[in-house]
Amino acid sequence: MSPIYVVGHKNPDTDSICSAIAYAYLRNERVKKGQIKGITDEAVPARQGDLNPETEFVLKKFGFEPPELLTDGTGKKVILVDHSEKAQSLDNIDKAEIIAIIDHHKIGDITTPNPITFIAMPAGCTASIIKKLFELYEIEIPPNIAGILLASILSDTVAFKSVTTTEKDKQAAEDLAKIAGIDDIMGFAMEMFKAKSDVAGKSPRDLLFRDYKDFDMSGNKVGIGQIEVVSLDLLADIKDALYEEMQKVKAEGNYHSVFLMLTDIMKEGTELLAVTDDASIVEKAFGKKLEGKSVWLDGVMSRKKQVVPPLEKAFA
Ligand code: MG
Ligand code: MG
Ligand code: MG
Repeated sequence: MSPIYVVGHKNPDTDSICSAIAYAYLRNERVKKGQIKGITDEAVPARQGDLNPETEFVLKKFGFEPPELLTDGTGKKVILVDHSEKAQSLDNIDKAEIIAIIDHHKIGDITTPNPITFIAMPAGCTASIIKKLFELYEIEIPPNIAGILLASILSDTVAFKSVTTTEKDKQAAEDLAKIAGIDDIMGFAMEMFKAKSDVAGKSPRDLLFRDYKDFDMSGNKVGIGQIEVVSLDLLADIKDALYEEMQKVKAEGNYHSVFLMLTDIMKEGTELLAVTDDASIVEKAFGKKLEGKSVWLDGVMSRKKQVVPPLEKAFA
């Protein structure tokens, strides 16, 4: 008997951590009810890295301990949540036995030798899909699990402001808030965003990698980070240091481009910092030229929907 680790992507966000906790709980309950034949080992949530301050706030609020750290998949049974890309997954994911994937991103490049449960939906958040699975399997959602699922939805959809938001997310959030006993959803979201905006005293490297993903775009290595804050004023003093760090990371990692989205949650837009071998790629992707180190992209809040697809097209 070895556990099944439920794990989200590298540089975990609130969805990757909380969906891992919730899905592990759901699977264990299903095993207890005899709904799962075959592999019935205990599911254990795991994390690939440090928690960000928003996730710390959320886990504390609903009384959860941080999941255990797991970075290498060798010889492990795993369930992946919130990603299906090798570059974002455990080291040696090829040497792990993948039991299931639950995700809301584009289908990535992970493959399996056997049929598995693979549930992907164009929702704003993995947690919205997991909420549906609780209903599908007729498992009751405990209030503290409802709380962390709600927090994931608010985090990923930026309180429903992101273009990634769907009706599924709004409906799920409403239902989950009732179960969790949260009357003021927007008030709760603001508490989370204030926690998320805590950048004081953090090193530029920590901030750059807090929410950072690698992509392969037509053979080019591209890194895209995102820092979401309630006001870009909070980043004014460290913008230059962040840019210098991006230059270092680009050189060390042999990147074509390193981008950093400085997203203003209240203004609903992003200042995109760019360190790239080819500045014209930015204009090709977004129809706007870099002005010095960055370009302001009005209305852009989602890496997945508004930054990755136009860049992939520009690189193609
Ligand atoms: Mg995520
Ligand atoms: Mg997500
Ligand atoms: Mg995100």
